[in-house]
Amino acid sequence: MFFMILIVLPVLILTLCAQGRLLSKAGENGAKILIPFYGSYLLYKACDATGMFVANICLSVVSFLLGMAGAGEVISLLIMVGSLLINIFFSLSMARAYGRSGGFAVGLIFLPLIFQCILAFGDSEHVAYTSQWKATHQKGAAIATWRCPVCNAEMPVSRLSCTECGEKRP
Ligand SMILES: [Zn+2]
Repeated sequence: MFFMILIVLPVLILTLCAQGRLLSKAGENGAKILIPFYGSYLLYKACDATGMFVANICLSVVSFLLGMAGAGEVISLLIMVGSLLINIFFSLSMARAYGRSGGFAVGLIFLPLIFQCILAFGDSEHVAYTSQWKATHQKGAAIATWRCPVCNAEMPVSRLSCTECGEKRP
């Protein structure tokens, strides 16, 4: 029991820190992640995936009720598949919301803590808060990039600093 707490507690704290930071990158108060349900609703909202939040709640309620009723294996399997699908859609939304690719979403699916920490504590920015994002979401706009003033390398808007020379984005 003590050993469990020794592992679970740091993981929980780190998860909350990372998700709080993700909220603050999206212009929310990061401490709100501590509010049960509402905190995670805000995170889904920041990822533009409130539909997934609703689906998740519905699935939890259904699986709780069916668990009480003693559901069979087929239904348990369906619930597992449903929750996996929700996780996949949520991870894709989160990767996109913080300027990352579908490949990054794979990391979020299999190692959520590590990849959420990369998004939270790395230089990823919430795309809705970049002017370039607004530009690309107008019809026919080109892929949003910025040019490094020092080495002239072209960087995607998700980078806050130049990967060639480390210069901060102007
Ligand atoms: Zn540079």
